[in-house]
Amino acid sequence: MVVVMSPDATDEDIAQVVSRVEGVGGEAFVSKGVRRTIIGLVGDIESFHHLNLRTLRGVADVHRISDPYKLISRQHHTDRSTVWVGPQGKQVPIGPGGFTFLAGPCAVESAEQTLEAARMAASAGATIIRGGAYKPRTSPYAFQGLGLPGLEILADVRAATGLPVVTEVVDVRDVDVVAEHVDMLQIGTRNAANFGLLQAVGESGKPVLLKRGMSATIEEWLMAAEYIAQRGNLDIVLCERGIRTFEPSMRNTLDIAAVPVVQASSHLPVIIDPSHASGRKDLVVPLSRASIAVGADGIIVDVHAKPEAALCDGPQALLGTELRELAQAVRRLPAAVGRTTTTAPGQG
Ligand code: PEP
Ligand code: MN
Repeated sequence: MVVVMSPDATDEDIAQVVSRVEGVGGEAFVSKGVRRTIIGLVGDIESFHHLNLRTLRGVADVHRISDPYKLISRQHHTDRSTVWVGPQGKQVPIGPGGFTFLAGPCAVESAEQTLEAARMAASAGATIIRGGAYKPRTSPYAFQGLGLPGLEILADVRAATGLPVVTEVVDVRDVDVVAEHVDMLQIGTRNAANFGLLQAVGESGKPVLLKRGMSATIEEWLMAAEYIAQRGNLDIVLCERGIRTFEPSMRNTLDIAAVPVVQASSHLPVIIDPSHASGRKDLVVPLSRASIAVGADGIIVDVHAKPEAALCDGPQALLGTELRELAQAVRRLPAAVGRTTTTAPGQG
């Protein structure tokens, strides 16, 4: 941490800062310039925060040098992490060196619809199935998901396809039951600052797919991940799903640059959701290509056998044939940019 003194700070003001810092066991290195003095602090950053140094006379500014997130930062964990999803022996990796394809319906509407979408996903080469049993809808009158029966359907899909399943949890009270039925818990954009829920999934023992809050800065997103990590769970995959901007032609604006920015700051894998980012199926293929090129560790895509009848997000869902076309792009492009595609367990 660095304290910048104002040009009119006195020797007494500087001594006051030094003595406060030393009082909590820190060291202060004073560097006097022609107009200003800066003081470099070494020690426990949290104890420096409690000093409220900015309130002291003569202090102009206080800057943090280390990342505010520790466990997920690359500062002390320089290698990028791989998160393994699924039961022992059937685990699917998400991380550097591969490109993981996740797909499935936005919502679990019925056993038939979910199984059909999951089979479409699997036959296109997806290695993790998605589907929401609890839907965080903007309107309380919209379809809210099937709840527990939806989780049971997802458990059946998992058994039928042999692939791991990810689903969203929206309430702290449901974390245990969701964790019993699926392989990975999703925190959606609307709950990305629900700190109690983040802590609860941090204690669930399951990997977590953490979407970026729709208006969250990258640092806020990473701090949300730190809440999960702080509860002992470092199996976190970050998901960029578009942010709110002034542009109305898409549902959200995909922040493609967030991928390399996050990868430079955090060791956690980052995937992209082109379906929720755009809300438009015609943009899913181009945004998926961009995801591969920018270095994302995977994509998660909505698929539905009858998008016109979908209870949630029909306009962005791909049909089976469209998903296969997307999968071709997914298969060809990583090699073109020096990467490989992650295959399903047993597919070599
Ligand atoms: C979803 O993936 O089903 C979803 C609701 O996404 P988001 O939280 O990104 O809107
Ligand atoms: Mn959706």
